[in-house]
Amino acid sequence: MANKILVTRSSLPEFDEYINEIQDIWDSHWMTNMGPKHVELQNQLKQYLMVDNVDLLTNGHMALELSLQALNLQGEVITSPFTFASTTHAIVRNGLKPVFCDIDPDTYCIDVTKIESLITDQTCAIMPIHVYGNICNVEEIQRIATKYGLKVIYDAAHTFGETYNNKGIGSFGDVSCFSFHATKVFNTIEGGAVCYKDEHFGELIRDLKNFGIHGPEDVWNVGANAKMNEFCAAMGICNLRHVEDDIRKREAVVNRYRERLDRVEGLQLNVIQENVKSNYAYFPVVFNPETFGSTRNEVFAALADEGIGARKYFYPITNSMACYHNQFDVNKTPVALRISKRVLTLPLYPDLSLEDVDRICDIILKCKK
Ligand SMILES: *Cc1c(COP(=O)(O)O)cnc(C)c1O
Repeated sequence: MANKILVTRSSLPEFDEYINEIQDIWDSHWMTNMGPKHVELQNQLKQYLMVDNVDLLTNGHMALELSLQALNLQGEVITSPFTFASTTHAIVRNGLKPVFCDIDPDTYCIDVTKIESLITDQTCAIMPIHVYGNICNVEEIQRIATKYGLKVIYDAAHTFGETYNNKGIGSFGDVSCFSFHATKVFNTIEGGAVCYKDEHFGELIRDLKNFGIHGPEDVWNVGANAKMNEFCAAMGICNLRHVEDDIRKREAVVNRYRERLDRVEGLQLNVIQENVKSNYAYFPVVFNPETFGSTRNEVFAALADEGIGARKYFYPITNSMACYHNQFDVNKTPVALRISKRVLTLPLYPDLSLEDVDRICDIILKCKK
């Protein structure tokens, strides 16, 4: 079999670059607890992401979980089920009730025309997801939130470095949560961050990520442990030097996929949004079996036979996951349900060769009937 291709491949700096970066840790013996690497990466990201405030966390999930806790919410949170398990889990683990809104069939983000009908006197917040790096309708979401006095917490895990109308994507809503997991466009091995405007929120997050400890003899909140350590921050400092280059290489891969798969009957490629600087994080393709002739699962199997790992992402949708059995009616989100059964994200990472992209496209086009 030809060389195996996985759906993604984590970005790493040169070995020596990382070794150089962590030398200071041996000199100081300071390995975690908001050390100098943590401070340095935080400052660099504030600039790169073009936001007022950034706080680093141990992963993207804790960013979501602690944000909901810090906002001291109660009741129902409107969100969409076409996402990673993390978004819904963060709501439920805070003792809040997710209320699922369907998604837009083009951007796969929350369908803003369906939010208002889901608002009750229990609704406290909206938690939309910028799916695949596609930007939600942030203006309309803010209009609704303001009208009903709701908080907005974005799951921005897919949107590292993106801008909308030349504004950092983390500057919308009350809070935006990023993931720096190894599989994301920018990684700190494991890591995450919250971006926000309100200083008081930041103070709470800094306490909550360190057990709620406010001072040596003051524990003010029932916090968790979600501090980014110095080795992860050092990885982030190294990877940030190369992320622009990585995004340009991703763009070349995406352009090749588009050249090969554009205008093939039965395939829906990702939208290109106006006024958005994309990070080319994912290349999702929706297979419409009626017109393409093969199902998503058949294409998935054809690729797997050739050693190519595409991903059914997102499948299953979160409101149909086994842990939520019988709690939600998936037929209330029919678009999310349909897309989840038809979508594949294709391999995409900076060093994926254009020859390999061609090979992947050849296999897909052979499934066309
Ligand atoms: C990756 C991801 C998360 C979770 O981030 P971690 O850093 O892995 O904890 C949450 N939501 C979405 C949409 C993600 O893709």
